[in-house]
Amino acid sequence: MRRVYCDANATTPLLPEVMAAMRPYWMEEFGNASSIHLQGQKARKAVDYAREALAGFFHCREAEVVFNSGGTEGDNTAIFGILRAGDHFITTSIEHSAVLRAADRMAERRVDVTLVAPSKDGLIDPEEIRRAIGLSESRRTLVSVMLANNETGVLQPVEEIGRIAEEAGAYFHIDAVQGAGKVEFDVRRFRCHMCSISAHKMHGPKGVGAMYVRRGTPLEPLIVGGSHERRQRAGTENVPGIVGLGKAVEMAMAGIEDGTMERIAQLRGQLETGILAIPGTRVNGGRAPRVANTTNIHFEQLEGEALVIALDLKGIAVSGGSACHSGSTEPSHVLMAMGLDKNAARASLRFSLLKTATDEDVDQILRVVPEAVKHLRALAPEAAVTLG
Ligand code: PLP
Repeated sequence: MRRVYCDANATTPLLPEVMAAMRPYWMEEFGNASSIHLQGQKARKAVDYAREALAGFFHCREAEVVFNSGGTEGDNTAIFGILRAGDHFITTSIEHSAVLRAADRMAERRVDVTLVAPSKDGLIDPEEIRRAIGLSESRRTLVSVMLANNETGVLQPVEEIGRIAEEAGAYFHIDAVQGAGKVEFDVRRFRCHMCSISAHKMHGPKGVGAMYVRRGTPLEPLIVGGSHERRQRAGTENVPGIVGLGKAVEMAMAGIEDGTMERIAQLRGQLETGILAIPGTRVNGGRAPRVANTTNIHFEQLEGEALVIALDLKGIAVSGGSACHSGSTEPSHVLMAMGLDKNAARASLRFSLLKTATDEDVDQILRVVPEAVKHLRALAPEAAVTLG
């Protein structure tokens, strides 16, 4: 059976070019980038080259790029590295758990935490952030808002939020894990102090990421030890991973310029049109600006998890929400924050297209989904009566 993977927001496969760039650094070029001999120098050169690519991607200085293990570490570092007891942390109720669980820990450590809720379209209103900053008075404040939501794809107004944070003298971190590589990207325009990205969401390897840290930001390292990464993140550099991330961001930048995202937006449009022809369906966050590859669909009177399993058996991989919560039956905190009740949140599925998605993939999804929905609804007769 031909399988269609439509869960890019959970993770993506390496592009062949990324694999080819990484391959030598596991075997022939295995040096430690801190060693002074030839093998070490070759590894250092590879890391420097990737740092240059990342600086181009973020639009920052090379010295402002810190390599790490991915989005969770970046989010944790920004939060734990800035905030102390008595400070004020402002974030949103639709963030990834890497931010929300860090916020919980900060609250336990006597940081005052304010969670801003989204509109029913999944958008954060910058004026709500301004109001929250107003509660800070003279306390040190960190604002952390995601660029794109992982479940709905909704793009947040980070430029406006950045302006508001700057005016108020607050620090600003962006979790750009889901937006990076999908939209035009420039940390100067976002006016942020820190920004976290992850390679595996953009056709790079798992377990590696990077953070932009604006020069002069008083960020305490999360991991201490050797003097790697200008003492901002200790630990022997993951050279193959860093090389892969560098190549992935180069490919992502090229993809934004060559119209790949327009093509994906068109495929997403076809997918939505096809699915919305099924009675009792609607797009969560569909009226807000979104990244091109994501759509989150509410299938009325259906158990989302049952549909995920039914689709998987038919060769289609989608997700009921964040991959990080898979295995949990908790309804999505993002959809609930947007005002969906528990049943509606549980009846919603995320389709997220890979950059390599094709018309054939979408056609195959559309051949399978209506039938699977009809079949599952037939098992719940009250739904079949009202929705046909
Ligand atoms: N932030 C967002 C918005 C994400 O979607 C994810 C992963 O799903 C993360 C952070 C965590 O990134 P990583 O898997 O690299 O730790």
